[in-house]
Amino acid sequence: MREGEVRVVPDPLAFTAQALARRGALLEVAQGGEVLALLPPELSREMGLSEEVRLSAVGAEDAVACGLGTPLLEAVVGAARREVPITAARVVREQAPKVGHARSLAERFVIRNGVAEVLEAAGAEATYLVAWLAYVAEADERHEGVVTLGVHAQEGAVPEEGFITACDVGGEGTLAPWREPTVVPGAEQWLARYTPAEEERALRGLREATARRHERDYERMAEYYAAMVAEARAPRRRVDGAAVEAKVQHLQAERDNKLRALADRFTLRVHTRLAAALWVLAPVARVRLHVRRRKGSRELVLRLPAGAQGFDRLPCEGCQGTTERPALCDERLHVLCETCVPLASGRPRCPACG
Ligand SMILES: [Zn+2]
Ligand SMILES: [Zn+2]
Repeated sequence: MREGEVRVVPDPLAFTAQALARRGALLEVAQGGEVLALLPPELSREMGLSEEVRLSAVGAEDAVACGLGTPLLEAVVGAARREVPITAARVVREQAPKVGHARSLAERFVIRNGVAEVLEAAGAEATYLVAWLAYVAEADERHEGVVTLGVHAQEGAVPEEGFITACDVGGEGTLAPWREPTVVPGAEQWLARYTPAEEERALRGLREATARRHERDYERMAEYYAAMVAEARAPRRRVDGAAVEAKVQHLQAERDNKLRALADRFTLRVHTRLAAALWVLAPVARVRLHVRRRKGSRELVLRLPAGAQGFDRLPCEGCQGTTERPALCDERLHVLCETCVPLASGRPRCPACG
């Protein structure tokens, strides 16, 4: 604990009352330290309380107890856990990237089928939204993990890992409170756009390992039944041919059922929820780039945020991905990624132009 910092342990009554107030309850402190609470109907239903309720630390005839271990406190704590904490912070100015460095990076920035020229490089600030997504992936085994993803709030460019690290728990000393954050509407849509691919990237190893175990068990089971069928077809005693065939068919049906069940057992089921989100105001080096392709030209903005080794990856205008080395289309110079335009030579087909 830092010097001069005083931490007060909230008492359960105050904690419960505040939690209810955050959810719209009206409070009034009554005699004897009890609290009168008027709950919105929805909250009263969720908590299993009447709309007008008297809360006390210990409980009394006409009061609901909310001390440690009481059902009400448990319910309030449970509800608080389900709330997604969204906070705001700014990256301190000392972390500002060097403008000269950004300029020299920009001079080497590659437009795969065009030319670029730096118009201006300057220090600026930019707003990012960073999300922590907690996933549970279950098949024959259960795995949990967290995927962290950030976006430039307005333009959807994706900052490089170094910036995320600066915003993460390890980033002590880099973050300061951002008291009046500007929330950018639509930023969460950029997050939603990139989430499936990021999640798949995080799950790739798990999917492969699950598929390997599935394959192994599949082969074992298939071999086992193949041996059983072979044995049925070569009986030690004389058996009627129809009986052999019936036995074989029975074995094959059983095998098919078991293999189907196996497929189900090794199907990865993934549940993801937003665990936390952070609005970040960060110092950036902002570069305006003039890009040309054939007779057309346009301007692109590149940003190097605090902590990042490279510019934010630009959103591809042809798909849901991003690009570090864009190509441009002929008509409107749309920014296109390496998947949309794998080869920079020739006339690119532009999904954005249709
Ligand atoms: Zn693309
Ligand atoms: Zn285009």
